[in-house]
Formats: sequence, structure tokens, C-alpha cells
Amino acid sequence: MSELRFRVVETAFKKKEAPVEVPSERPSEYFAKYVFNREKMFKYLPGNIYNKLVDVMDNGAPLDRSVADAVAEGMKRWATELGVTHYTHWFQPLTEGTAEKHDSFVEHDGKGGLLEEFSGKLLVQQEPDASSFPNGGIRNTFEARGYSAWDPSSPVFVVDDTLCIPTVFIAYTGESLDYKAPLLRALHAIDKAATTVCHYFNPDVKKVVAYLGWEQEYFLVDEGLYAARPDLLLTGRTLMGHESSKNQQLEDHYFGSIPARVAAFMKDLEIQALELGIPVKTRHNEVAPNQFELAPIFEECNLAVDHNMLMMSLMRRVARNHGFRVLLHEKPFKGVNGSGKHNNWSLGTDTGILLHAPGKTAEDNLRFITFLVNTLMAVYKHNGLLKASIMSATNAHRLGANEAPPAIISSFLGKQLSEVLDHLEENDSDDIITISAKQGLKLDIPQIPELLIDNTDRNRTSPFAFTGNRFEFRAVGSEANCASAMIALNSALAHQLTLFKEDVDALIAKGEDKMKAILTVVRRYVKECKAIRFDGNGYSDEWKEEAARRGLDCETSCPVIFDNYLKPETIAMFEATGVMTRKELEARNEVKWETYTKKIQIEARVLGDLAMNHIIPVATEYQSRLIDNVYKMNSLFGEEKATKLSSENIKLIEEIAEHTIFITEHVNAMIEARKVANKIADERGKAIAYHDNIAPMLEDIRYHIDKLELIVDNQMWTLPKYRELLFIR
Ligand code: ADP
Ligand code: MG
Repeated sequence: MSELRFRVVETAFKKKEAPVEVPSERPSEYFAKYVFNREKMFKYLPGNIYNKLVDVMDNGAPLDRSVADAVAEGMKRWATELGVTHYTHWFQPLTEGTAEKHDSFVEHDGKGGLLEEFSGKLLVQQEPDASSFPNGGIRNTFEARGYSAWDPSSPVFVVDDTLCIPTVFIAYTGESLDYKAPLLRALHAIDKAATTVCHYFNPDVKKVVAYLGWEQEYFLVDEGLYAARPDLLLTGRTLMGHESSKNQQLEDHYFGSIPARVAAFMKDLEIQALELGIPVKTRHNEVAPNQFELAPIFEECNLAVDHNMLMMSLMRRVARNHGFRVLLHEKPFKGVNGSGKHNNWSLGTDTGILLHAPGKTAEDNLRFITFLVNTLMAVYKHNGLLKASIMSATNAHRLGANEAPPAIISSFLGKQLSEVLDHLEENDSDDIITISAKQGLKLDIPQIPELLIDNTDRNRTSPFAFTGNRFEFRAVGSEANCASAMIALNSALAHQLTLFKEDVDALIAKGEDKMKAILTVVRRYVKECKAIRFDGNGYSDEWKEEAARRGLDCETSCPVIFDNYLKPETIAMFEATGVMTRKELEARNEVKWETYTKKIQIEARVLGDLAMNHIIPVATEYQSRLIDNVYKMNSLFGEEKATKLSSENIKLIEEIAEHTIFITEHVNAMIEARKVANKIADERGKAIAYHDNIAPMLEDIRYHIDKLELIVDNQMWTLPKYRELLFIR
């Protein structure tokens, strides 16, 4: 029994780094080699078609059939030169991954042979048999079909022998069944709303773009050790395992030197990512042992989301080539940090980043303050929704634990910026603004310097922190599709900016000067959303109490947090911005609750099985050996002396019995609790039952298993331990 574990551990520790094929060119030369970007479009498409396609991509112009056919032809020519034989519509269903179904280019040529064909119709639209994707009932109650449609704003790319076409996935009746469709709508809404607000300051602004720069955290484990842990394999996290004596106490892993095997993996991954057009830039060790981070240069939000999805699947593939498994779960190991995916978000126009530390002119400053304060307002009004947007069964392990953002959304601005807002709030007399003909309006925010925000002024405990030219939404989970958070944030702000415009215009209509009107409304908002601003320690208990007093959403139960999506103000916001309808929101919540239930259900089953057929048998066998020893001591030394000599072993025998009894009883109780929960028909109720009744049992059972791990002979323990899993040599 013991041999297996020792064999896998031994081979894991003996592994050498796999050789990496390094291209002879520089990164700037092989960047986007496998992407049908503008450069390739220009080369492979006729001039007039290229111009029309650029108009489609940049301005959302309609794509007519003849253009689509010509684009498809050029794409096929490019792809065939790369040895591509298949194509797929690549989409993001409501699971956390991506979906693809590959079709080859071949068609009958009508003469008994085959030819390669790829028409505009196949590029633009497909009808994947999507009945098995989560849809929350939409596809049962309405037309049963769904279709995927090309998103020309995200370029087509090649993986292996397949041309991948980023698409939205929609029910025939128009409801979205994916993340991309509502994200595109949210980005359209923010463009529209923010552009009109920009016009107060600069009438030439044509477009506002949301940017996203994600930072992906992950763990690596050796493939052999991973395979010997059914819990990791089936649930993505360890459901048991006593803490290693050494883990992250010495803080020696963060920014430490990267082990050679891992460095080889990273190098390979980066080369492949760059070839796919993902502008990776940063890599380093993270806080926990075996934990790492990867970040690209920020990009337009929709593209950044696609790139993150692509990156996660690339990581999984490349890791396997290096004898690793990548763990994207938010909390694979108890007792060490979990993984997140900071979403650095900002808005920009053709004229620059809107949230950039303010410039020298008063208008620039007021524009900066306008977007900053409206963002705070949006986050304040929809703090519960933002929390719901990042919440999942897996991320629930991370939020609120003493390492990651707390389960309350608040915003950190830093000292300087907070002072500016306080100042605005306190001085509401007219004399703080002076209007001179030349300079326009001057805010009495004494010369906000160019670099207002000190980048070292960081607060790691804040879930939504301002960091100089962007907000960093830190609560996003490592495994999540960033789109979920980006849909909520951009839609909420789009809605908020529309309200802002109405408020300002109402004052202007009354004869108020434009800049003064803006200032008046901004000042009102600063007061109104004050509750969302918090620069203190987000982990402290005082904050929990304080946040509740301030009326912020303090709910911690994942299925109840999802209710935020169906609050009247949320539905009104999503409908007003045209991002999602009530029907879509309801359907998506069904999926969320169902997914939550399934995840806990799977964990409960895996833990039950492992407890009963790995842990209890091993513990019992070890216990029998001890009993045997006690009897033998008796016959050797006689009862009186043996009782004394065996006293520690007798204690252990009893301890093992107590733990195994607890485990067996609770595994059975957990099965019964599942039976009860499974009978609940409504998805919300079922998810709540799983959260309230079953999830805590997993922890209770685990506690006793981890105790047994400390007692039982190391040689008999079948599962790789934390100290083996967590330290790559
Ligand atoms: P940190 O110190 O927070 O770990 P990093 O430099 O690792 O910061 O990552 C910051 C991320 O923020 C990068 O992905 C970067 O491209 C991104 N970023 C920088 N400026 C902006 C911006 N204006 N909008 C969106 N993302 C940005
Ligand atoms: Mg960061």
C-alpha cells in the first residue's frame, strides 16, 4: 500500500526540466504569429475587403455576406499555410471554461473527391448542438436551438491544426447563453455613456474603451503526485491534508528565485502565449509555496477576457508537457494563500486614460474626479452585485479568509485622493471655485500634481483599490471568467454615468454654468457614496461591524449572495443599459445555483469515498498493528509491566477509534443530508441547503482525517502529503 506513494514522490523529486524550443526570432518578431491580426488581414484580403472589415471591427458596421465570404477565403488561405485543417467556433458558455467543436474544411467536390472549403456563412454563424450547455431553462421554455456568431472585435487564431473563431453563444430567441454577449453589450453601454460625459470636457472624443489587465495566480504540482490525489483530480482542490510543518511562514517564496523546472515551464508558456498574441509581461513566485503569477500588458476588455480564457487553457496544456498540473482553483490547499485574479480596470479614450492621475488643467482634474466619483457611486450602489459577480463555490474559500479580499466590497483610494474628496465634500460654498475666462474653471484642489497617487500607498486588504491610473478589482477568483466581473462593473458605471448626465443637464437647463453644474453633482455624489470608501484593514472584525452599520452588503453565503442579481435595482440597471433582461438574469441565476450545488455535491461524494476507502482502512490497519503490539507486549512482559509500557499505544488506539467513528458517522450523516437536499425542487433552496448543511460537514470530517494523518505510520499513508505536493525541487 505504501509503495505507491513513495514511488510517485520519488519520481516527482527526480524530474528534470523538459527542454524548451526557443524560437530563433525575438519576441517582437514571433508575437501574434498564430493570429489573424490586421497585418495578416492586410496581406491576405483584397484592399476593399480589408477596409470594410476594419470598419466592422472598429465601428461595428454590419458585415454583409459577400464581405464575409471574402474574409473567410483569406483566413482559410492564411490558415492552410500554417497546416490548419479544421475550424471551430470558440465560445464561453456559462461553465467557467471555453467550448469548441471542430469541423474540417473538407467538402465534397461533386466529382467523387474532396476539396477544402470555408465560406463566410461558416465563419459568421453556426448552430452547435448546445442542449447540454447550462442555460437555466431558457432553452427548454423557448426555441430549443442556439447559435454561435462571430465576434469580429476579437481576432481569429490558430491552435494546433484548428482555426479558432471567437464567437458569442445565443439562444434563437436572442437570450445570451454565454459570457461574451453580455460583455460586448456592457462595453457598448459604457462606451456610449462615457463618451457623452466626456463631451462635457472635450467634444472631440469619439469613443471610450474599457481596459483590463489581469494578473493570473496559479499553483503547480507534479503530475504524478496530482494523479495520486483523487480529490485534486476530481475537484481541483485538496479536501484533506494536514498542513506541512513548513509552508509560507518564512515568506521565502514570494518573489524568490524560480525553480528550474518551473522556469522552463514559464518560458515555454510565454513563448506560446506571445505566438497567440497574448502580450505577457510579468512572472514571479507568489506567497505560497508552488504558487506563481503571470500578467500581460493590459488590453481592450473583450480581448483581454478572451486572452485570459485562452491563457488558462494554454497553461493546462503546457504544464502537462513539463510534467506538471496547473491548479487554477482559488483554494487548492488549506493553510496557505489561495489564488486570485486581480482585474486592473480603467477607461480610456482616443485621447488617453480617463482614470489617469490628473493633469495640470482644471478641466482635466474635474474630468478625472468626475469619472472617479461616478465609479465610486456605481460600486457603492451595486456593491452587492459586484460581490455576486465574483462569487462562486470555489472563490468562497478565499473571500473573507485572512489573506484575500474580505467578503465586503469597499474601495481604497489612498490618503491623497481621500483628502481631495473630503475637501470637496467639506467646502461646498461657491467661493472654492473661481472661474476665469482663460483657464475655465479652477478647482480649489490646490494644484493636484501630475503624479497624484503614490504607487507605494497600497492597501492589500481592499477588494477594489485605486492604484494610480486604474482600479484593481482584487476579489476576482483565479478560475473565474473575468467577464462576469467586467459585465457587472462596466454596466453599473454605464448606468451611473447616464444618471450623472441627467443630473448635470438638469442643472444646466436651470441656467447653471456647465462646469459648476458638474462640480455640484460630483460634490453631492461624494457625500452620497461615502460609505464605500474604506482605507483601513479590510480583514478586521471592526470593519465587518462598521460595514454593516454603513449598509454595505455583508452577506457571506454564496447562494444568497447570488440574489443580488435579481434585486429590482439590479434588473433595472441591466435592462436600462441593454445588457441583460430579467429573463436572462433569472436563467443565469438558475445556472449559478445549480453549479454551486453540483460542486459541493461532487466534493461531498469524493470526500466520502476517500474517507471510507482510503483513510478508514489505513487507520484501522495501523490501529490493528498497535493492538497486536499491545498483546505481544503482554505476553512478553506480563500484564502489569506491559500496561505501563503500552500506555501510549493504548491512547493512540483509542484516539484512532474516536477519529474513525466520527468520520464514519459523519460521512453517513452527510449522505443523508444530501438525500434531503436533493429533494428540494427549487435550485436556490437546494443550493442554500448544500451551503448550510453539507459544506460545513466537509470541514468537520476533514479535521479528523488530518488528525489521523499525523498519527498513522507515514509508510502506510496512501495519499501524497502537503509537504510533498507543495515543494517542487
Ligand atoms: P501589481 O503590483 O499590482 O502586481 P503588476 O504590474 O503586476 O501590478 O500588474 C498590473 C497590471 O495592471 C498589468 O496587467 C498592467 O498591464 C495592468 N495595468 C496597468 N495600467 C492599467 C490601466 N490603465 N488599465 C488597466 N490595466 C492596467
Ligand atoms: Mg496587482
